[in-house]
Amino acid sequence: MHKVSVTVLGSGSCGNSILVSSEDTVMIDAGLSCKELERRMSAVGADPASVDALFLTHEHTDHTRGALRFCSKYEVPVHGTDGTLSLTPLNGVRTVPISTKHAVTVGSVTARPFPVRHFAAEPVAFTLQVRGRKIAIASDLGCVTPRVVDDMGSADIMLVEANYDDEMLMSGPYPDFLKRTIRSDHGHLCNEDAGVLVSKAASENTDRIVLLHLSKENNTPEKAREAVRKGVESGGHRPQIAVTEHGGMNGPFDLR
Ligand SMILES: [Zn+2]
Ligand SMILES: [Zn+2]
Repeated sequence: MHKVSVTVLGSGSCGNSILVSSEDTVMIDAGLSCKELERRMSAVGADPASVDALFLTHEHTDHTRGALRFCSKYEVPVHGTDGTLSLTPLNGVRTVPISTKHAVTVGSVTARPFPVRHFAAEPVAFTLQVRGRKIAIASDLGCVTPRVVDDMGSADIMLVEANYDDEMLMSGPYPDFLKRTIRSDHGHLCNEDAGVLVSKAASENTDRIVLLHLSKENNTPEKAREAVRKGVESGGHRPQIAVTEHGGMNGPFDLR
């Protein structure tokens, strides 16, 4: 029997990618170069040739940088919304349009895209159902909408953006327009909002929270962990919290 495991290959503005493997393997985003994806996969014993599908959340290069080369080399179909596919260089690669109205099945993996409000053409986040386990992957969220909470509800493992600490962002070196964009409903999620999201979405099923996309300038792993721990414990749950450092890998996390 195949176990289900989730590995963060990269996180943060320098490149995001997550691998979910069971008897079938899917990659969510490919924001590292092809070479770096190969290197990081081999570090955890994963075979690039085993990837059955790539799912893109949105077109920003920190999520798509290696998509063309990796998917050409390993003949991997790329799933994305029309908005994402039209703005991502994917010449010669097989593309599969997806929408938030329909689930997509790749072997034993059922992916359900749901809309998010990030500043991109048609961004989505995903839940994946694999062997009865539910995996929620939600980064570059903009804000927490009821739809986001609903779709992520009761996942066994939640991978969630905790981009910035609000005080650090406001007192930090970014120009005002950038601070405003990041804090807007179409920007990124702060630590407190990540805590609110998991406190609303977690249930007794939720074993683990993995924090993603931490800003190098405007956050620390300690602040992110503490804010999210407070949030989730206020909801009466005590899942394990793993923080992915800027630029780092995390996992593999095996789902029991
Ligand atoms: Zn983005
Ligand atoms: Zn991003």
